[in-house]
Amino acid sequence: MSTASPNSPSSLPEKPLRLSIAIPLHNEEEVIPELLLRLGKTLDAIPGGPHEVVFVDDGSSDATASLLEAAAARDPRFSVVIFSRNFGHQAALSAALDHVSGDAVVLMDADLQDRPEAIPLFLEKFRQGYDVVYARRVRRKEPLWLRACYKLFYRLLNSMAEMHMPMDAGDFGLLSRRVVQELRSLKEHHRYLRGLRSWVGFRQIGIEVERDARFAGTAKYSLRRLFRLASDGIFAFSTIPIRAAALFGMLALFGSVIFSFYTLYAKFALHRSPQGFTALIILFTFLSGVHLLFLSVIGEYVGRVYEEVKQRPVYIVSRVIRQPRAADTGASSAADQR
Ligand code: UDP
Ligand code: MG
Repeated sequence: MSTASPNSPSSLPEKPLRLSIAIPLHNEEEVIPELLLRLGKTLDAIPGGPHEVVFVDDGSSDATASLLEAAAARDPRFSVVIFSRNFGHQAALSAALDHVSGDAVVLMDADLQDRPEAIPLFLEKFRQGYDVVYARRVRRKEPLWLRACYKLFYRLLNSMAEMHMPMDAGDFGLLSRRVVQELRSLKEHHRYLRGLRSWVGFRQIGIEVERDARFAGTAKYSLRRLFRLASDGIFAFSTIPIRAAALFGMLALFGSVIFSFYTLYAKFALHRSPQGFTALIILFTFLSGVHLLFLSVIGEYVGRVYEEVKQRPVYIVSRVIRQPRAADTGASSAADQR
């Protein structure tokens, strides 16, 4: 690792900044025209360049890929990575990171919940020497129950994770080139990028950005997928679930020893025989439940180990559409280009 920060204030005036924006999309045809418009305006206003936007089409079945292809043909700043099928949001973000070449990279969703107009604010912090600038979501425009779940999850994760995780921060944010390089070298299969971003370190800061409502279309994250993302966060950054078994085990042992002494006392001092068939059944079902629960927790970790040892790639690219550029320094997966 070089010691000098590429974005340190002293190194800035000479070198024009090249910004990359990385956007994963899955069936987002309704939002693309507005997205392109707002991205174009935002990029035009940022000095330096040439900037780029890398769209990753995550196995869309609608007109997303063709709309993006047409956009890339019109504007050399746009390039498109098309997946062979749907691999999921986090895989698409990883692919985008593998294909960007800018000095700073902004990750954002396609549905305009992350407003492109926040990008200049990220750049301001980047120029001050921060390697990671992430958006802390304020005033989310989502249903109350979902916001409550998000809040609870981020607090739970933070209390369980072995390092500090920023509260209420999604993937929307800016990464310096060296952070992107470090993220590329992390090959884990179940990716929870906002956690890996914290794990990488360097100077990080959160700024408050309002999270808008989705511009059009429906959410592509089903509740099941949201739950899977949340469990990726917890199981990838904490071993507390598995260690909780030891705590439960000790409590159960302690309780059983106390109860054994009480039974002896009841038998010999009070001349009472043990009673309570119902209590026995309740205890039996409770402990069976606890056993099965922790078996599933162990299974979760074993399953993740199994996924990792298979060493399948996180995603497969079908096509990359990119106009040749003189200033292109080459993305890491140039071999993918056909
Ligand atoms: N997305 C994706 N692959 C998927 C699901 C979602 O690339 O399998 C993209 C989607 O197009 C959007 C972003 O990930 O740009 C966030 O998805 P969404 O807005 O549905 O999630 P939410 O904001 O509801 O969490
Ligand atoms: Mg969204």
